[in-house]
Amino acid sequence: MILIVDDKPENILSLKTILELHSFPTDTALSGEEALKKILRQSYALIIVDVQMPGMDGFEVAEAISGYSKARDVPILFLSAVSTEKKFITKGYSSGGIDYITKPIDADILLLKVKTFYRLYEQNRELNRIETSLRSEIEYRKKMEGELQERAGELHSILESLPQVAFTTRADGQIEFVNEQWLNYAPSKQEFPFTHPDDADLPRVWARTVAMGEALELEIRVRRIDSEQYRFHLLRAMPIREGETIVKWVGTFTDIEDQKQAVKRKDEFISIASHELKTPLTTIKAYMQLLDRSISTGNPTKQYVERALAQVRKLDNLIVELLDLSKIESGKLKFNKKLFSFEAMLSNAIEMIQQTYPDYHITRKGTADVELYGDETRIEQVIINYLTNAVKYSPDRKEIDIATVVKPDGRLFVEVRDYGIGIRKDHQADIFSKFYRVEESANRFQGLGIGLYICAEIIRRHEGEFGVESEPGEGSAFYFSVPLSVG
Ligand code: ADP
Repeated sequence: MILIVDDKPENILSLKTILELHSFPTDTALSGEEALKKILRQSYALIIVDVQMPGMDGFEVAEAISGYSKARDVPILFLSAVSTEKKFITKGYSSGGIDYITKPIDADILLLKVKTFYRLYEQNRELNRIETSLRSEIEYRKKMEGELQERAGELHSILESLPQVAFTTRADGQIEFVNEQWLNYAPSKQEFPFTHPDDADLPRVWARTVAMGEALELEIRVRRIDSEQYRFHLLRAMPIREGETIVKWVGTFTDIEDQKQAVKRKDEFISIASHELKTPLTTIKAYMQLLDRSISTGNPTKQYVERALAQVRKLDNLIVELLDLSKIESGKLKFNKKLFSFEAMLSNAIEMIQQTYPDYHITRKGTADVELYGDETRIEQVIINYLTNAVKYSPDRKEIDIATVVKPDGRLFVEVRDYGIGIRKDHQADIFSKFYRVEESANRFQGLGIGLYICAEIIRRHEGEFGVESEPGEGSAFYFSVPLSVG
């Protein structure tokens, strides 16, 4: 907006007409005093002021404006009768843009000057806008930097308070911060702790982790710098992201040597105990079988012996499971793989279960008249385990389906379906883990929670896959698939 200041309304009108014809918005004031009031209230792009006015003249107006911080830089165009007054003008108003135009006013010259000032004004405004946005950008960055430093400080205090060895690295994996514990294990703040020569090479593992951008969990032996003895530690490292980008990594080494030793002692105990129990039990079983055979049918003692024998078999199965478990733990579960008739093995297994649980009805679906390469006894163990679980966890619905199919990709698929208590979704992923039993049903049904763990290991060792589909109250379908021939 351009402010025109003149005491003569006819002058104002003619200026206003010229300017508005060329789309310049205008405002007017009939005296210096009125102009000053307006300038205080509003910003103008240019002020055109008549030099000769009664009361406050043009120069005085300019001088007053130069005292206003708000309007100090607004350019002024003086209208004067004679051109020699220029040096006068400059004296009064030096900071803003200044020019004059002589009367009578030449419209072309006026427009030329107004346009120049207006362009300047707009450029100035644009510069101001850029400056303001730059300033706020700088402020924002400063604030962010401050916040970031504060957060890093907080993180470092937390890491310092941990009993573990802890560190952070930059996004590229360069160590950035280490807590006090670090120097008990590492030669310097820039290097990783000493690791056992037989374990993974830590700098290499770290480089790979950073390149993959995924969290790391690794059991690794490290030693204190003042000790020769390595202890198992769990190294966990997590990427810290801002949006999608990894900005740093934070990691800890936790001493797990004592747990490791405890687990080892427990495994050894299970192994020894199950071996020690197995020998006398085998003898008991043999004598019980002899006794059973020697008692003629119809003798009332026979049913007691048979009941005792059934319990002995249960005990025997539990001990066999424990023995298998300790073999898995010590890497001694051996497989005797050869080609065998799958259908024959399956029929045997079904018959055996059918005899043991005569009130259950097992329906065979599909055929699998194929030769399978694998350990027959172990595959049979999986099927018997699935079937006994199907019986055990279906006390009220006594139907079981067992389906087999050879898939086009040359894999044999086996599924045992029951209509029993089922398994909640949140338990399904865990039931193949060691000692896992569904809590709600654990008291109602006896077991050690290792049967499925052994099945999983057997199937894995046959390059197979396994799983379960189940609805609570509707039943479960346990399945596995193995390649017919390997390699
Ligand atoms: P165990 O039967 O000795 O407890 P398993 O390893 O065979 O151990 O099974 C683990 C757990 O999975 C069981 O405790 C039970 O909660 C659940 N489970 C296994 N089979 C079934 C099934 N057919 N129906 C319902 N739950 C089952």
